[in-house]
Amino acid sequence: MDQLDCNIPNIKKIPGQKLASKKSNNHQTIVDVQGIRIGGKSLVIIAGPCAVENKSQLLDTARLVSEYGAHILRGGAYKPRSSPYSFQGLEEEGLELLQLAKLETGMPVVTEVMDARQVALVGSNTDIFQIGSRNMSNYSLLREVGMTNKPVLLKRGMNATIDEFLWAAEYILHEGNDQVILCERGIRTFETAYRNTLDLNAIPMLKSLTHLPVIVDPSHGTGHRWMVGTMAKAAIAAGADGLIIEVHHQPDLALCDGDQSLYPEEFKKLMEELTILAPAVGRKIHDKATILS
Ligand code: PEP
Ligand code: MN
Repeated sequence: MDQLDCNIPNIKKIPGQKLASKKSNNHQTIVDVQGIRIGGKSLVIIAGPCAVENKSQLLDTARLVSEYGAHILRGGAYKPRSSPYSFQGLEEEGLELLQLAKLETGMPVVTEVMDARQVALVGSNTDIFQIGSRNMSNYSLLREVGMTNKPVLLKRGMNATIDEFLWAAEYILHEGNDQVILCERGIRTFETAYRNTLDLNAIPMLKSLTHLPVIVDPSHGTGHRWMVGTMAKAAIAAGADGLIIEVHHQPDLALCDGDQSLYPEEFKKLMEELTILAPAVGRKIHDKATILS
C-alpha cells in the first residue's frame, strides 16, 4: 500500500467543487515526475536556489543538494520581485542552465512561469510548472497551464483562503490537467517578526478536503534561515507530502532570498533529521536509488 493510512475525516466539501474535492478517505492523487511519486507514502524533497544566478552557482548548488538527497531541483529563471529594480532572473538563459543542471545531476526541475505567454517556452524547459503566490489568482495563467500535460506546483496566494486556493486548483483541473501539487508557503498576517506566517493548519485541512498532494515551503513561510529546519520538520509531522526548500552554495552572496536560504551543510543535516523523523509519522524519504535506476 502506497497511501498514507491516516485518520483525517472528510470534514466538509467546498460546494460546487467537482474536481479538487476528495471523494472518499482514501482518494489520493499521486503526481509522478519521472518516477518520483508525490502524494504517496514517500516524502519528496525539492531543493535549490531561489533564483538561477549563473552557471557555477546553479551547478554547485544542484550537485550538493542532489548528493544530500534532494529529488527535484528548484530555481527561478523568471522572478516576481517587489521592486522592478531588483534582479528579475536570467530568463531564457536561466532555463538553459536548469536544463544543464538536470543533465549533470539527473534531477527533474521545477521553475516558475509568470505569464500565460511564457507557458510554451518554460514548458519545454521544465518538468514541473511553478505558479507563484502572486499569480495564484491569475486565472488566464491557470487555464494555460491547465491545457498542458505537465505537473503544476501551485503555491497558495499570500492572502488566499483555503477555499480560494482550492478554487485556483480547480481552474487547472477543469482544463484537463490532473497533475496538481498544492504548496503552503505562508500567509500574510498582522505578525511582522517573520516574512510570512506558515499556516501548518492548512496541511491537515487540505488533506481532508482534497486528493491532491500537499507540500510545504518553509523558506518563504519563515524568511529566516534559522527557522527553516524546525518548520520543515513541523510540516512533515503535520502530514505534508514533501517540502520545497531554498538552498544556495553561498547564501551570503545570493541575489535573491539569501537570508532564508540554507547553507548546503544545513540542508544535509536537515535531510538526516527528516530521515529519522519520517518513520515516526508513517512516512519515509523517497528512495533515490530506485528513481535513478
Ligand atoms: C519562490 O518560490 O521563489 C517564490 C517566489 O515563492 P512565492 O511565490 O511563494 O513567493
Ligand atoms: Mn525565493
